[in-house]
Amino acid sequence: MNQDKPLVIPVFIPHSGCPHQCVFCNQTLITHQKNNLPDAAAIVSTIEEYLSYRGQRKWVELAFFGGNFLGLSPAMVTCFLDSVMPYIENKKIDGIRFSTRPDTIDSQNLDLIDPYPVSAVELGVQSMIDAVLTASNRGHTAKDTINAIDLLKKRGHKVGVQLMVGLPGDGEVSLLKSTQQIVDLNPDFARIYPLLVLSGSPLAVKYKKGDYTPLCLDQSIVLVKQMMAIFNRADIPVIRLGLQASDMMSDETQVLAGPWHPAFGHLVFSQMLYDAVIRQLETGQDILNSNHLFLRVHPCAESRLRGDKNENLERLSRLFPKIKFIIVKDNDLAITQVKVDKAKGQGKRI
Ligand code: SF4
Repeated sequence: MNQDKPLVIPVFIPHSGCPHQCVFCNQTLITHQKNNLPDAAAIVSTIEEYLSYRGQRKWVELAFFGGNFLGLSPAMVTCFLDSVMPYIENKKIDGIRFSTRPDTIDSQNLDLIDPYPVSAVELGVQSMIDAVLTASNRGHTAKDTINAIDLLKKRGHKVGVQLMVGLPGDGEVSLLKSTQQIVDLNPDFARIYPLLVLSGSPLAVKYKKGDYTPLCLDQSIVLVKQMMAIFNRADIPVIRLGLQASDMMSDETQVLAGPWHPAFGHLVFSQMLYDAVIRQLETGQDILNSNHLFLRVHPCAESRLRGDKNENLERLSRLFPKIKFIIVKDNDLAITQVKVDKAKGQGKRI
């Protein structure tokens, strides 16, 4: 268990506080929870269950996910936050985070949460293009996101943004423009989700009528790769790519269509490392005269470099049949880096 990774205790509030159902959304399906709001006993039981897995983890957060937290009534917001406070006071939980819509961030709501140890606010931004937000029935604008991030930062909150790929009316140009706009607002971290057509969502109806075509897996990988490059250039961490794997995701009666893969993030990172190798091979002509080349990566990135079922290495061998590629583990590199070298150097050959 990675002790530096926080333990996140999720408390799902599916669709609670939502002004309506966004076109792609069916949180009841994603969270596997029929009741919209857990009661205090259910929250305590979730907390106790997760704390029993804490081990040596240094940081524990409770997260209200799956709904529009600040869209709940003020009484409900404080009731939820108060239910966590005994655990904060006895230092079993260090912070509280929640996801909420950008149009719920105003001075009044921020005053409401001020007395509580809110460690991050995650905004369901989805897109910064108003036409795409309208087509997705979001009911807020890009300006709401700009204002929300500004207000949250002024109050010293850590801000996360959740973005979607494959929204109705979106395309490559608008998606990348939207990504750059969000990066320019300098959030602290991001999550990126390819859109899946979920049963029970308004989009499922459009999809069945032929009014919406989802992205395929390859298209979504290509787009997310480009988004990642924009976030990486700005040094903004992307902490999640794709939805969590669950049995429901492979059930075709629940997930009707879309670029679902249980290891979506792994596929994107693999492709990024492959591209980085190709770029270095294309710019270093003398390197191509070698009969073997060393690919240096951080030990944790080895499987990403290899690709799904060694796909990346096989593609390289097909493209450069005269070169033998040898992976070398190098702790000095970041896990997003790969270096192509003619010499093995100090790293450990695999
Ligand atoms: S996307 Fe967010 S705001 Fe929209 S229905 Fe789902 S939980 Fe509610």
